[in-house]
Amino acid sequence: MSKYHIDTKCIQEGYQPKNGEARVLPIYQSTTYKYDSSEHVGKLFDLQAEGFFYTRLANPTVDCVERKIAELEGGIGAMCTSSGQAANMVAILNVCNSGDHIISSGTIYGGTMNLFAVTFARMGIECTFVDSDASIDELQKEIKDNTKLIFAETISNPSLVVADIEKLAKLAHSNDLPLFIDNTFATPINCRPFEYGADIVIHSTSKYMDGHAVALGGVIIDSGNFSWDNGKFPGLSTPDDSYHGMVYTRDCGKAAFITKARVQLMRDMGMAPSPNNAFLLNLGLETLHLRMERHCSNAQSVAEYLEKHKQVSWVNYPGLKSNKYYDLAKKYMPIGTSGVISFGITGGREAAVKFMDSLKLAAIVVHVADARTSVLHPASTTHRQLTDQQLVECGITPDMIRMSIGIENVDDIIADIEQAFSNI
Ligand SMILES: *Cc1c(COP(=O)(O)O)cnc(C)c1O
Repeated sequence: MSKYHIDTKCIQEGYQPKNGEARVLPIYQSTTYKYDSSEHVGKLFDLQAEGFFYTRLANPTVDCVERKIAELEGGIGAMCTSSGQAANMVAILNVCNSGDHIISSGTIYGGTMNLFAVTFARMGIECTFVDSDASIDELQKEIKDNTKLIFAETISNPSLVVADIEKLAKLAHSNDLPLFIDNTFATPINCRPFEYGADIVIHSTSKYMDGHAVALGGVIIDSGNFSWDNGKFPGLSTPDDSYHGMVYTRDCGKAAFITKARVQLMRDMGMAPSPNNAFLLNLGLETLHLRMERHCSNAQSVAEYLEKHKQVSWVNYPGLKSNKYYDLAKKYMPIGTSGVISFGITGGREAAVKFMDSLKLAAIVVHVADARTSVLHPASTTHRQLTDQQLVECGITPDMIRMSIGIENVDDIIADIEQAFSNI
C-alpha cells in the first residue's frame, strides 16, 4: 500500500505515466490486444505473463481504476463490474453454490434484497435476513453448517442503519466465515471496513464514487486477509477444471478470491465495465475526498435545520446526536457519514407530495448520491403499490421524504426547503 493520505490517493493512484505518455488516464477503447507470438498469448492465458488479451477480462483503463480503488480501501486487488448489482452478485457467487446459505442484514438496498431473496432463492442459495443490531449470541443462532458469509451495508440505503462492523466480523470469523460489506454510502473516504475486520468490500460506484450520475458501475475489493482454505470453500481450495486445474488458494495466495472472480466468473458471465465508464469513474474518484466533505457538512446543516423545524415530525441522519446510530457512526465514520437524510413531514402523504412539488433547486429523481440535491417520496413513487399499512411494515412511512444533499451552497439548499415548507 502507498504511503500517501487518502486525498492524495484519490488523485494520484492507479495511473503513473512513463516518460512522454499521456498525463491523464487514457481511454483504451479496444476490445483486443496485439501480440507478436502465439507463445506469448499462451502464457497470458496460463496467467504466466502479465498483460491484456480481451477487455471482458481486463482493460488498461479499467485496470488503473481498479488499482486506485484497491488503494483507497486498503485492499490487495479489485475488480470493476458494469453495475453495483453485478458486483454484489459476483462477489457472492464467488463463494456460494446451490445448496448454500448466506446471512444478510435485513436493512439493505432494495435491489440487493431482491437479488438475495428472489433470484438467489431460484438458484438454490438461501438467505436469512437478520436484525443487524441483534447481539452476537442472537445472531449466532442463525448460522448453519452451510452458511458461507455474512453481508451488511456500512450505512444502509435508504434506512441509514449503521452496521457494527467489528461485531459482525467477530461473529463471522468465529465461524470461519468472511464478512462482506457494501460500503457504497460511506465511501472509503469516510469508512474503510477492512480496518474493522471486513474481508470483502463492495460498492455501487454509480453513487458517490462516480458522483455526477453519469455512469453505472460496481466494484469488488479483496482485503487478502481471509483464509479460504479452511474447508468451507472448495471452489477456492480445490482444482478448477475450467481453468487447467488451478487451485486459487495455492496458486494465487492472498489474491485467491479476486483472481477467481475475474478468471472464472467474469470470464463466464461477462458483466464487464466499459473503458469509457471507467474513465468517467476515475474523474469522479479524483474529487471524491472534496465532494464527500461537502456532502457531509451540507447534510449535517440541513439535518440540524430540519430537526428544529415545526413542520418536521422526525429526522433520520446518523450525524445527529439524537440518532440511534450516532455512537456507531462516530466510531466507524468519524469525519462524516453520507449526504443522505430522511425525514417525516407533518401532514402526512398529502403534505409530502405538496412539499416535493414545491422544491425548485432539489429535483425529484430516483437516484441518490450525486453532486445535485435530489429528493424522493417513496410512498408515491418507488413503493406506490403498497397501502399505508404495508408501507409501515417495511419501514417506509407515508410522510417519509428521502433527500440526497448535494454539494451546492447549503444556504441555497435550505432556502429551497424553506420556501417549499411555506407552500404547504
Ligand atoms: C445503488 C446501490 C446498489 C446497486 O448498484 P447499481 O449500480 O445501481 O446496480 C447496491 N448497493 C447499494 C447500497 C446501493 O445504493
